[in-house]
Amino acid sequence: MGQYGSSSLQERIERRRKQDRAKRRKKLVIALVVVILLAAIGFGISAFSNRDNVDEPIIDDTQITQEKEETPETEPEKEPEQEVTEEPKKAPEGTPEAETPSDEPEETPETSDDTEAKGFESTLKAASENVVIFASSRIAAQIKSSKSDLSASVNTGEIDPNKPMIALTFDDGPHAKNTVRILDALEKVHGRATFFVLGELVDGKSEILKRASDMGCEIGNHSFDHSNFTKLSADEMKTQLSKTSNLVKAATGKGTGLTRIPYGSVNETIRKVVGTPMIGWSLDTRDWESRSADKVVDKVLKNVKDGDIIIMHDIYSSTADAVERLIPELRAKGYQFVTVSELMEARGIKMVNGRVFNVAVKKD
Ligand code: ZN
Repeated sequence: MGQYGSSSLQERIERRRKQDRAKRRKKLVIALVVVILLAAIGFGISAFSNRDNVDEPIIDDTQITQEKEETPETEPEKEPEQEVTEEPKKAPEGTPEAETPSDEPEETPETSDDTEAKGFESTLKAASENVVIFASSRIAAQIKSSKSDLSASVNTGEIDPNKPMIALTFDDGPHAKNTVRILDALEKVHGRATFFVLGELVDGKSEILKRASDMGCEIGNHSFDHSNFTKLSADEMKTQLSKTSNLVKAATGKGTGLTRIPYGSVNETIRKVVGTPMIGWSLDTRDWESRSADKVVDKVLKNVKDGDIIIMHDIYSSTADAVERLIPELRAKGYQFVTVSELMEARGIKMVNGRVFNVAVKKD
């Protein structure tokens, strides 16, 4: 009986010890998970707030409105027929969010000496306290900066003339897939763009143009078949433009009010014949040349400034990829996405028929 009793006590003590050890191990594991999670959240927020550093571009009043007479640089060779092979694309990136902690791990660490474990435990505790301080200060800073972001009326689509804005422009479309992807990306932020379309591509894509127009996008004229206007007679030019404008009107209810001359070269005859303002560009992504989303994103982010007219081509899937990345990125920097006409109006620039406009910088 006594023997049985003492053995039972020993067993109980042994069991209690085991339980204690198991409990301590569990605590250690939980502490470790918490530290790792806090560190991850801290770094995530740190990366996000670096990316999101809102450097509001300041409108430089000393800059004079540029109306370069001839459009700059080159325009792509005509390649509208070329349909880029499509593959399923990833969804546009949203704002990163801190992950919620997952379940605690089940397994316990291997045998450890109690004193060692206690030392480790206190080190962990100290480390986790530091991480908590680090993480909470980053979170506080983040909340502070995101509050000021939200207060800017970026989610209504209304234009604030005192905030930076750009006109994204897309030539050589419409394209059945890529134009739609670009519209989807714009719609998410209540943004708008200007599409300089080719009349010969409108057939079968009227719905796309209608949707763009209903979203507030501007449909401009890029000729019927991308002819080189410097080689056309006045009548041929007029036909190219009127056919396209009529097709756009049939699709959207509105004709084209702006023209982008194919290849960008404008001479005196063109100036006289084209009965609308002509739109050039101030930031050339050369997307037709690189066919690389990375290069387009990089070029835009490095060069973009308030009042820019950015030229791209909505016939390339690489350009749609770039736009899906650029729109949230530029929005985070405070840019509004407006049409060319909205941009000019907001900057007090009156567009005149037969003249070329490349950029919109606020007048004094
Ligand atoms: Zn073109």
